[in-house]
Amino acid sequence: FETASDAILSIDGNGMILMANRAAKDVFEYPGHEIVGLDVRRLLGSGQDGTWEVLAGYASPSESGKYVDSSAVSRSGKKIPFHISVSESASGGKRFYTAIMRDVSQIKAYEEDLQVLANTDSLTHLYNRRQLYPIMQKDLDRGVRNRIPFSVLMIDIDHFKKFNDTYGHAGGDLLLAGFADMMRSALRKMDSAFRFGGEEFVVLLPETTGQDAMVPAERFRQRIAGSLFSMPPYNRPVSVTISIGIAGYRNGDTLDDVIRHADLAMYAAKNGGRNRVVDYDHLVRTETP
Ligand code: GH3
Ligand code: MG
Ligand code: MG
Repeated sequence: FETASDAILSIDGNGMILMANRAAKDVFEYPGHEIVGLDVRRLLGSGQDGTWEVLAGYASPSESGKYVDSSAVSRSGKKIPFHISVSESASGGKRFYTAIMRDVSQIKAYEEDLQVLANTDSLTHLYNRRQLYPIMQKDLDRGVRNRIPFSVLMIDIDHFKKFNDTYGHAGGDLLLAGFADMMRSALRKMDSAFRFGGEEFVVLLPETTGQDAMVPAERFRQRIAGSLFSMPPYNRPVSVTISIGIAGYRNGDTLDDVIRHADLAMYAAKNGGRNRVVDYDHLVRTETP
């Protein structure tokens, strides 16, 4: 009991703490015996699933031993995520509970780190390609349900190979990271940016038609063309241009259709001389009589 690494509390039928082991005193920040006599409700989170009444409900013999995801609050107000298991016993006609609480803060922190690692690209800290489809799907669902438009920008850096050739792969990487920073600062809160491939990026513009997307796309193109990036080893300023393809969602499109249209428009921008924006709608209208 005393040397267990889990916090263990013995609690009476009213929720009063009768006994606590060292781990419980440490994690809840009650040295000595101050924790004894305390109402266990003072320690437990007030959330729906975390109240003592709910936890005690899990103490019945059929459920006992089951660990529940919950949280508790230490004396100084620190919220601690716990796995809690409560079991019930009776003695002298009275009911008693034993709560075993495993501090899972570290596991939760690892889980959050892993989540970030799995969803973002380590060089640019933008969403990676895997995130594109699930996020886009939400816009597509809203588009279908409520006829809310959305559009996609496919962005490819012009002649990127030449930067790698001149400044090395590490120099190219630095340029990509700086480019991503500019992208982030140019976007609205509701927009999201993805690293789609090596030096290809996708921007998702919710509630924006393909036609309306021309304004931010053109603004971003000009902003990049007018910026200087400093390259190693002598911080030499270089300028970069980008080609952008726009595709607005059209009724009946799949996600692949939207991406493919943006890609086609981007290639049309490349063929048109680079450093320009092409809207897929415009492309279709000028190509089909
Ligand atoms: P274009 O104007 O036609 O787009 O010319 P480009 O040279 O940019 O050609 P393309 O887009 O086909 O090639 C992109 C190059 O980017 C190829 C590859 O060497 C480089 N690249 C891809 N991923 C990375 C990366 O993570 N870091 C660096 N430094 N270079 C990359
Ligand atoms: Mg390129
Ligand atoms: Mg490319």
